Amino acid sequence: MKAPRLVASIATVAISLALTTVPASANEAPVIDYCAKKTTGKFRSITEGACTKKERSLGAGPIVRGETHPNALVPQFKARYEAAKMAAKKKGHTLAITSGYRSLERQEMLYQRAIKRHGSAAEASKWVLPPEKSNHPWGIAIDINYGVGGTKGKKAAAWLEKNGYLYGLCRRYENEWWHFEPLVAPGQQCPVMEPYAS
Ligand SMILES: [Zn+2]
Repeated sequence: MKAPRLVASIATVAISLALTTVPASANEAPVIDYCAKKTTGKFRSITEGACTKKERSLGAGPIVRGETHPNALVPQFKARYEAAKMAAKKKGHTLAITSGYRSLERQEMLYQRAIKRHGSAAEASKWVLPPEKSNHPWGIAIDINYGVGGTKGKKAAAWLEKNGYLYGLCRRYENEWWHFEPLVAPGQQCPVMEPYAS
């Protein structure tokens, strides 16, 4: 009984070795950026050099907070949105940023207004985060078609929810169909949605 079992386990090891040593990938250089054509939004990956003047850099990973607050959307995030917007247009969807970069003062004003409307800081935070927590003042959050375009606008946002990952854009919260952030590298799967901001 012992011999056949040994043979079987050797065979298993041989198979798993064969599976784990798939060639090629070891030689592939890592992607250092994705470059989108300004005119069409179509993009390519690069493993060396930089994007051309006719292209915009989308970045090769999630886009995170910088060291200091910017005063506009982070350029690579904006470029991702522009590329996605062009692709959406081809499918008959119109995307519009209804709120993007916000100053800390504006975020504070919106937050205070939400506290009045929702009755408490905790309830308000599910919809409008305080300035130190929100990604809008960091230039890495956009609201799409919120309050504009009616059902069509919402459908367009749903298109972005489904296809945004191709451009590294993800819907982040279950309670906000309009809110998107650059949470992944272009083409990577978006993380599971959070129920609401907190
Ligand atoms: Zn938002």
